[in-house]
Amino acid sequence: MLVIPVTKAEMLDKFQKPYYGYTQFQGKLQPIVYIRSDLPKRVYESVLVHETQHVNDNAFLDGRVWYWEFRAYKAQAKADFIGMLQTVWMSLTDPERIKLYLKRVFIRF
Ligand SMILES: [Zn+2]
Repeated sequence: MLVIPVTKAEMLDKFQKPYYGYTQFQGKLQPIVYIRSDLPKRVYESVLVHETQHVNDNAFLDGRVWYWEFRAYKAQAKADFIGMLQTVWMSLTDPERIKLYLKRVFIRF
């Protein structure tokens, strides 16, 4: 997998969503993981664990997206519980991130 740190502006420009991390599968080519370079170090590392779990988990391909997300958060918690909490806390205190989650819940991906 290829990890590319990006700014918030680059993430918004590329995906139109305020993601902290994003895994892009590209068929037979290695997946690309984009991660916000402006995150606190501990959050960056935790998001990297999250996206690495996504890369190595094919539940997404089976359509089990919620399970895929659950497993990524579980991997984060296992690697660094405080880092996972810090990531969740940053999301819960950021209106743009809350909007992203609400859209995911009510409009799906
Ligand atoms: Zn995820």
